[in-house]
Amino acid sequence: MNDCIFCKIINKEIPSTIVYEDEEILAFRDINPVAPVHILVIPKKHISKLTELSDGDEIIIGKIYKVINKIAKDENIFDKGFRVIVNCGEDGGQEVGHLHFHLIGGKKLGTKICE
Ligand code: AMP
Ligand code: ZN
Repeated sequence: MNDCIFCKIINKEIPSTIVYEDEEILAFRDINPVAPVHILVIPKKHISKLTELSDGDEIIIGKIYKVINKIAKDENIFDKGFRVIVNCGEDGGQEVGHLHFHLIGGKKLGTKICE
């Protein structure tokens, strides 16, 4: 957990472009965007991946989706639509071991959701 890159972003030890922050949630721009809008929304609590949710974590997951809607409005993609992706584990392509929700939009995305 101590060498978790996203925990370091939360603690401002690593710079990021923050677009939303509250006591429980942080959202910042992906360093390698795949679309005009590519934002990562994360719980400040270190949860390593979706399959590591504890009892009660469903509350923060629900809050994250509400924050995603707010950011989508701020980024002007709320009406046209967007995609939310959570990669989990090795086969899911998860590279950073801190649960994160990719908010992707700002262009018409392909219909294939995996390759
Ligand atoms: P995933 O493959 O789902 O684990 O996605 C990890 C994402 O984190 C990738 O889209 C990376 O571009 C992004 N990322 C890695 N390091 C940083 C960083 N320091 N700041 C912003 N985004 C990052
Ligand atoms: Zn972490």
